[in-house]
Amino acid sequence: MKLANVDGRAVLLTADDKGIEVETASGGEFGPGLMSVYENWDGFRAWAEQPSAAPGVVFTRGQLGPPSPAPRQIVAIGLNYATHAAESGFAAPDGLPPTFTKFVSALAGPDVEVVLPAGGDVDWEVELVAVIGRTASHVAESEAWAHVAGVTIGQDLSERIAQLAGPAPQFSLGKSYPNFAPVGPWLVTPDELADRDDLALGCAVDGETVQDGRTRELIFPVARLVSELSRVITLFPGDLVFTGTPAGVGLGRTPKRFLRAGEQLVSWIEGIGEMRQTFVAAQGN
Ligand code: ZN
Repeated sequence: MKLANVDGRAVLLTADDKGIEVETASGGEFGPGLMSVYENWDGFRAWAEQPSAAPGVVFTRGQLGPPSPAPRQIVAIGLNYATHAAESGFAAPDGLPPTFTKFVSALAGPDVEVVLPAGGDVDWEVELVAVIGRTASHVAESEAWAHVAGVTIGQDLSERIAQLAGPAPQFSLGKSYPNFAPVGPWLVTPDELADRDDLALGCAVDGETVQDGRTRELIFPVARLVSELSRVITLFPGDLVFTGTPAGVGLGRTPKRFLRAGEQLVSWIEGIGEMRQTFVAAQGN
């Protein structure tokens, strides 16, 4: 099942790229927004097996918002691919996964314009994002996927000067400028994927591929991440988990390379789709 946020309304995607508006088709039982769907995810899944006939909704990419538009928490994981940890000059983690947040105000739909902060070094990080479907606290790894509604694509856009400034790196602020957490284009349930733990992912800047990896390389795969995180925090329906990025970020290149005004970033994950952002200079920059 694919579930999209079209102008704030939950829409089930059909094979012909049209959609079924959830509130209308369910007679008001589910929807209209996405968050109420996650709050009753098990009931929604059961209904969505056989949605009532409803006229198809035609929509454009510009109407798509993030598949979970108002999560209580956005959890993000650093250094979760050995190749990326190495290019960043850090040891690969053991014990608890390195965890920070992208503040919810940075959340955006898939195809947005992003303002580059004046004087900043803005970098790309394509990531598989898990959307939580059941409240998770002290969940065993074997039970963790059952607490995930589905997956989508995220860009963990990162302004490296702010991220690495100060006596100790403080990731959250430098990764939370407006639109620095574009997510989408829709949620895909794990049963739609050939192998939910091995998906090709990558991104390209103006057509040049800069990241190209597979999620089987994750040090903490989705199930282990959800389990480990749930030993400390409670994960709520609709929460997002950015799972980390493979090698190829601009900071790890020689010479370093960062996003410039006018460039376009396209990100993809096998079985989900793609999203694209364009970058513009800050006013007065
Ligand atoms: Zn990241």
